[in-house]
Amino acid sequence: MRIGVNGGSLNQELVMRKMQENTDKNLGKDSEEIINECMLISALESTELALESGLRHDQIIISCKTSRPRDLITVYRDLSAKTEQPLHLGLTEAGMGMKGQIWSAASLGVLLYEGIGDTIRISLTPRPGGDRREEVYAACELLQALGLRSFAPSVTACPGCGRTTSTTFQELAEAIQGYVRDMMPMWKTQYEGVESMTLAVMGCIVNGPGESKAANIGISLPGTGEAPRCPVYIDGKKDVTLEGTYAELAAAFQSLVDNYIAKKYPRKVAEVSAR
Ligand code: SF4
Repeated sequence: MRIGVNGGSLNQELVMRKMQENTDKNLGKDSEEIINECMLISALESTELALESGLRHDQIIISCKTSRPRDLITVYRDLSAKTEQPLHLGLTEAGMGMKGQIWSAASLGVLLYEGIGDTIRISLTPRPGGDRREEVYAACELLQALGLRSFAPSVTACPGCGRTTSTTFQELAEAIQGYVRDMMPMWKTQYEGVESMTLAVMGCIVNGPGESKAANIGISLPGTGEAPRCPVYIDGKKDVTLEGTYAELAAAFQSLVDNYIAKKYPRKVAEVSAR
């Protein structure tokens, strides 16, 4: 059972009582602090009631909903200090697209890094006709960024700068990201540990090889004025140099990824015994 407390629908008697106490005792709290305190009290009191009603501790998870990252962090830090119950994290009404993702990551990231939180949701308002799965992808990326879970191979791509005017590295990075996403459902049923693989797509020879060597498979594309050759590094060692059109590079890189996975990651037992 989830006990959900929302800052917008708190017990008004409790809020008025705490406001009065703040005034009478000259505590100097602002209204947000009082609301946060009331959310905490409400969550803990509701949990006690649920336990008294016969629910076991392992049947209860607590969620406190607020749409302000700083408040979410404050409330959950207090909550985790006062209860052992599992906590569900989510910044409610986070908004659309980049705003929702960044606000959610800014608040949930802090808490998760401190070891607070047992389940999460990134609440994104979908664009008209948008993909509802985006909030799942965002949640997976957040957990993977913090090293808490691995869901799929990560693709590192350079941001680009004055050293390149080519868009090939962006297109290739996007294509590889899409390829990983498409293939992962099949890979994860067949290969043990494939989700830990790292890929890199870099935009020039100045910094590209270094970052490429740090990945399991990295490609360094030519920057402005550089020879049209693309060295590929596998587990830190130069393996091959690719040349050609974007489509040829994408196909060759995907082929290298497929071969690497087949050689590096053991087949899952069910897959082996089915042969
Ligand atoms: S890898 Fe090259 S192009 Fe990409 S950001 Fe670094 S210096 Fe710029």
